[in-house]
Amino acid sequence: MVIIAQYQPPSPVKIVMPIDSPSSVLSRIRQLIATPSISSVSPQFDQSNRAVIDMLAGWLEEAGFAVQIIPLPQQPDKANLIATLGRGPGGLVLAGHTDTVPFDAGRWHYDPFGGVVANECIYGLGTADMKAFLALAIAAASEFAVRDLRQPLVILATADEESSMAGARALTLAGRPLGRHAVIGEPTGLQPVRMHKGILMEAIRLEGRSGHSSDPALGVSALEGMHRVIGELLRWREELQARYRNPLFAVEVPTLNLGHIHGGDNPNRICADCELHIDIRPLPGMMLADLREALHQRLSDLLVESGLLLSFRPLFAGIEALETPAAAAIVRATEELTGAPAGVVGFGTEGPYLNALGMETVIIGPGSIRCAHQPDEFLPLATIPPTLALLRGLINRFCVASA
Ligand SMILES: [Zn+2]
Repeated sequence: MVIIAQYQPPSPVKIVMPIDSPSSVLSRIRQLIATPSISSVSPQFDQSNRAVIDMLAGWLEEAGFAVQIIPLPQQPDKANLIATLGRGPGGLVLAGHTDTVPFDAGRWHYDPFGGVVANECIYGLGTADMKAFLALAIAAASEFAVRDLRQPLVILATADEESSMAGARALTLAGRPLGRHAVIGEPTGLQPVRMHKGILMEAIRLEGRSGHSSDPALGVSALEGMHRVIGELLRWREELQARYRNPLFAVEVPTLNLGHIHGGDNPNRICADCELHIDIRPLPGMMLADLREALHQRLSDLLVESGLLLSFRPLFAGIEALETPAAAAIVRATEELTGAPAGVVGFGTEGPYLNALGMETVIIGPGSIRCAHQPDEFLPLATIPPTLALLRGLINRFCVASA
């Protein structure tokens, strides 16, 4: 996800809450924080999430859930967990990712794996984003017995959300919904969220022919070709921004950023290679596959007689935009239970994958995105009781009361 602000850490240290039994929610949050599960596209930082998955599996089995651990197809050291209590065609999924981002040890005032409780907050990597939510979901779920449930309650814990979304992708391939309604507990300050933009990042490469600069006929300039490409991209951006607009977002239109360019080597040589990297943030309703196709078509038409070789490379697999209908039962329920209208956020989530599987998904969880992916990430202890109350309310509505 994309982070917007810098968090200023507080200074004084004061222990305010004792850690009682090992099964208390605070103790479980600390156990999850103490178990590293960093995911990263850089292999030197990337770690398995199995220890976290096994810890969750133990707690869920104790609470009576049927637990499945599903290793990712290409990465046997990573796994998703699906734990189910009760059965039926509807039901509620409480979902979260088990991985965290890497950290910059020198900039933390607290041990990132220590789960230090101070200033009425718990500090550590994954407190807000978002291991604590998994402990809270299990605590709320443990208050219910299978005989109470008329529809299933599912806890879903995924791998690699912070790096490749490989866990959510693997679920999509499996192709079955886990329940009718879903909540992903990313840190939204307990405000329901039903929309976010998508992300597409693509490299555009042009290959021409080098030659002596004194005679343009000796080569084909990739740099001059890229100049035409940039012109075309800016025209396309104008068209997209004229066509799509959503006033719920702070930036109401889709964006297209030219973020990186490299080409050529010397002023007296015709440039033979040039590469441009772009970032597109589509609004809900714009599909990544359609955007890619339009991009490829426009630029191949533009350069058809140019003598340049055009190629594309996705810089990562991309994230679709999220839009869960305002009238969806889960949207209504989270609005009623929190008293807050469902809004939008500026980061990507696994929501589009769950929606694509036929679940209706709301993003709502404790803590602030402003301190996620930052040194001294924290979760205020005061957010624990309202989160448990919200989850209890949702379980009652969708699993106990629902026919
Ligand atoms: Zn997250």
